[in-house]
Amino acid sequence: MANRQVSLTGIKPTGDLHIGNYFGAIKPALELAEEYDARYFIADYHALNTMKDPRELNRCIREVAAGWLAAGLDPEKVVFYRQSSIPEVFELATMLMAFTPKGLMNRAHAYKAAVQENGERGGDPDAGVNMGLFTYPVLMAADIILFDSDVVPVGKDQVQHIEMAQDIARSVNANYKQPVLKVPRGAIREHVAVVPGLDGRKMSKSYDNAIPLFIPETQLRKLIMRIVTNSQAVEEPKDPGSSQIFLLYKLFASPEEQQSLAARYRAGGMGWGEAKEELFRVVNRELAPLRERFQAIIADPRDLDRILKTGAEKARPIAAATLARFRKAAGIE
Ligand code: ADP
Repeated sequence: MANRQVSLTGIKPTGDLHIGNYFGAIKPALELAEEYDARYFIADYHALNTMKDPRELNRCIREVAAGWLAAGLDPEKVVFYRQSSIPEVFELATMLMAFTPKGLMNRAHAYKAAVQENGERGGDPDAGVNMGLFTYPVLMAADIILFDSDVVPVGKDQVQHIEMAQDIARSVNANYKQPVLKVPRGAIREHVAVVPGLDGRKMSKSYDNAIPLFIPETQLRKLIMRIVTNSQAVEEPKDPGSSQIFLLYKLFASPEEQQSLAARYRAGGMGWGEAKEELFRVVNRELAPLRERFQAIIADPRDLDRILKTGAEKARPIAAATLARFRKAAGIE
């Protein structure tokens, strides 16, 4: 449809998809796809920074692709592709480098965290930092800007990257005194901005506290039973607001279910084990059909490849147009 705004997001295939990815990235993105022209992709070159085992990287690419489809992405409606199938991304990234102050990259959270960690160990500040990590925000800016994105649905942790993409696009436009590149904006869903993990910290594959989306039911139950709780006795009244079991429950339960469980918390007489059973019930209710679809998609890799190839064929002409605009403005024709 003409004149619809563009929503774009990507997921790095660096591990099993988890509930944080689902609520923080996939679900909001699929909701936006109802109103926007959606362009969603697998950020496989971003993953290469940390994933050097080819088999594992390939497995993760397929898992993330199948995950999007199992969660309901309709490849007829959404332009769905692998970043690595769009060479224009990398050409644009090179052009954007010329407009990206090195100091901006020095301030990027992921790079700063690596340097700080090295400093604490008393080693070389840049130990273990490859240029892919250092220039990560430029590649991400290219992903976004290439497709004239209006909104970028992401979790809170990605806000800085979006701001950097805005800065870079603005400095290109300021230099050529014309709107060569679209300046994107983030779409952060505040109430699901940070999904807590089993230990109460942000759910992340790096913290070993994640609930993977597609694990079998028995494992799902085991993981939920592992959620860390305090030592309050069964009879004590409990505060739903400070319980991560309840925080997770809210993501999956209806308003009535939430009210009813909150009342049971406050009344006392309900132990953590019981609360976890309630949580398992609603999580499994939502994930069981997803899990089934996922297994069916993974079982047919040729179909998956075909879907991604068709997506890339739709994406490349859009990318080429942006690149041509920028090259012309830059005097590189
Ligand atoms: P991880 O932290 O497990 O490495 P990624 O960084 O690959 O996850 O995140 C992929 C997408 O999922 C990003 O848009 C990110 O903001 C979102 N996301 C990841 N973890 C969470 C979480 N715990 N809560 C909300 N969103 C999340």
